[in-house]
Amino acid sequence: ANRAELAKLPGIGAYTSASVAAFAFNLPESPVDGNVIRVVTRLNGWDEPTVSIMDKINACADELIKAASCPADYASAIMDLGATVCTPKSPQCLLCPLRENCKAFKDQTADKIPVIVKLKRDARKGYVFLIKNAAGEFYIRTRSEKGLLHGLTEFPWNTDETLPFEADWKITRKKVKHVFTHFDLTLTLVLLNADSVPAGWDGRFAVPEKFADYPFSTLMKKVVAKIS
Ligand code: SF4
Repeated sequence: ANRAELAKLPGIGAYTSASVAAFAFNLPESPVDGNVIRVVTRLNGWDEPTVSIMDKINACADELIKAASCPADYASAIMDLGATVCTPKSPQCLLCPLRENCKAFKDQTADKIPVIVKLKRDARKGYVFLIKNAAGEFYIRTRSEKGLLHGLTEFPWNTDETLPFEADWKITRKKVKHVFTHFDLTLTLVLLNADSVPAGWDGRFAVPEKFADYPFSTLMKKVVAKIS
């Protein structure tokens, strides 16, 4: 296994794929969490907002883990260092094994780094489409778009409240809400009785009793709860 292969698995994002690669397979892939971001930015004295330098932070974290003789031990050690020594407030630089090479220690700027700028949360609204055939089955598909929820099962949905094709859609008053990292999503349930979907829709119809066999995302489990 490598990180790229792991990232293809349903629901596995960058952090999880790197964690599994490093901790389970001892591969030089750095999971980058808040602790690692803090240590890396302080080591380098980077005082720009972290959101604007994530590529640089990830590249540096990768370089550091590639230089380690045991990637799993290193990944664990840098996270521990960030959690216990290089803490957000009052870092204990005098106890830190990295202080000789730490720019923030040298410049006495550790208390100003990293610069965290809170992103304004975005509120998005969309539709989730429940297409039910005469046999009582619902249309589901596997999410193929890269990134968010890739590889998981879903009902078709969007974030712009448009209807995907002309039909006798019924826009209900039922809604599901979900909080993603950078935005809040509200989906309105939209119903349609139909035995087929347009050409090119590559999902399938499934009975609700079989939904447990599919890897629905947490968001879609909320939708399932509304229809059962
Ligand atoms: S020397 Fe201080 S600021 Fe630098 S990595 Fe160690 S604890 Fe963090």
